[in-house]
Amino acid sequence: MIEQTTAEDSLQRQRAGSIYLCLYGHFYQPPRENPFTGILPIEPEAIPYANFNEKITAECYRPNAEIGNFSSISYDLGPTLAAWLEVAHPEVYRLIIDADRLHRARYGVGNALAQAYNHTILPLANTRDKETQILWGLLDFRHRYGHNAHGMWLAETAVDLECLDLLAQHGVTYTVLAPWQAATSIDPTEPYIVSLPSGRSIIVFFYNAPLSGGVSFDWNTTSNADLFAASYLAGHLVKSKQDTGEAQLLLIATDGELYGHHKPWRDKFLSHLITTGAPDYGFEVCTLERFLLLHPPTKEVELRVPSAWSCGHGVARWDTGCECTEGDSSWKGHLRQALNHLAERGNALFEQYAGESLSNPWAARNAYLALRNGWETPESFWTQYGKEHRLPEDAQLVQRTLLLLEAQYYLQYSFTSCGFFFEDLDRIEPRNDIAFARRAISLLWQALGIDLQQDFLRDLQSVQSGRTHVTGAALYRQLPIVKEGLLPPL
Ligand SMILES: [Zn+2]
Repeated sequence: MIEQTTAEDSLQRQRAGSIYLCLYGHFYQPPRENPFTGILPIEPEAIPYANFNEKITAECYRPNAEIGNFSSISYDLGPTLAAWLEVAHPEVYRLIIDADRLHRARYGVGNALAQAYNHTILPLANTRDKETQILWGLLDFRHRYGHNAHGMWLAETAVDLECLDLLAQHGVTYTVLAPWQAATSIDPTEPYIVSLPSGRSIIVFFYNAPLSGGVSFDWNTTSNADLFAASYLAGHLVKSKQDTGEAQLLLIATDGELYGHHKPWRDKFLSHLITTGAPDYGFEVCTLERFLLLHPPTKEVELRVPSAWSCGHGVARWDTGCECTEGDSSWKGHLRQALNHLAERGNALFEQYAGESLSNPWAARNAYLALRNGWETPESFWTQYGKEHRLPEDAQLVQRTLLLLEAQYYLQYSFTSCGFFFEDLDRIEPRNDIAFARRAISLLWQALGIDLQQDFLRDLQSVQSGRTHVTGAALYRQLPIVKEGLLPPL
């Protein structure tokens, strides 16, 4: 195999600099901590580790960080995962964050991207929630990496034009999409400009679907990095561009956990590919932002919207359900309706009561992440967002407003996309979304003594698993017991 490709190899080596390879890792896990205690449950399937966060850290985050892979790839580290890693494994966290700093020092641009905060399917969120998700993602990024993000990864690469416009409004210049999200013909070896109705624009990269799929799902594809570079990568280059020396980029985008967790030893495959395998075959390993610096896009594309990378039915997979998941997925629509009802009630109460102390409760919500995480002082927060432009003297009013803001925080969590991704309701991910909703109910109850639990349970009664026939209401009742007084009586 190696001998047969020698002539081709030398040709490719001569053209080094015009063919680029970018590996993209989306590092994220569904948040699973008990929202009342912040503690991750023991997960017996993760044995010998206490839970999957620990297992995946040992198999993927740590080895990839220690071997230096993060400094050569483009990546995003989900904010909710980053918050856990920062406390549980600060040395691993530091290596991942520092990779972006090293890349900036070397190339002038970073290689980390932000992520919309709660892994929410943005096309299914209202405008206000879209903006909060994007702003929290950017705020979180700025805090962790010490500079503004230029790229943002969207959960499931789910887009519509409104969320792209909000990204552009807030300084995000690029994102990554699946090739089938383009409505006009594309060559995925170059980025494109999307012109938005507002007159703004944003750049999109389309990943190489066969290569990304091969790396994700085909064991043989990634058993040997040299072979992968020699026989798989080369076959995806555009011949006419090779002939003229025009720059082209092969982008392989996958979940980051693939490298070591979903596939053992793939951290070493990745390392070998980016340090030796790809360069030996003429590829310059590059990150997205660096590629933009070298070769800014010149062509425009129109998009299919709404669309996502893991559903062929717009974003129905996370909405009403579709045949992307096996069996009866009608529970998805009912669960979303229950969560929407709860959020509508919670939002109205927030606007009414938080509006007594905050001049614009929604603007305050967008800044709340920094206050709750201690990145901003209460004095500074209240000076900017308080009606009186200072911390109110009425301690009870302050306390109530903080509870209402925290309820908003958990309402955002309750739309985590993972709850809608899989085939059935009777799984940990939908249960977690219900648990986050319960936390919001508790906070609203503590703030105002208003019971939103009853109506939520009624709505959850019509959410039913097609497999075990358990209802959403039953799942709610099975959630861990909390201290008396924290929830309305059942
Ligand atoms: Zn679908």
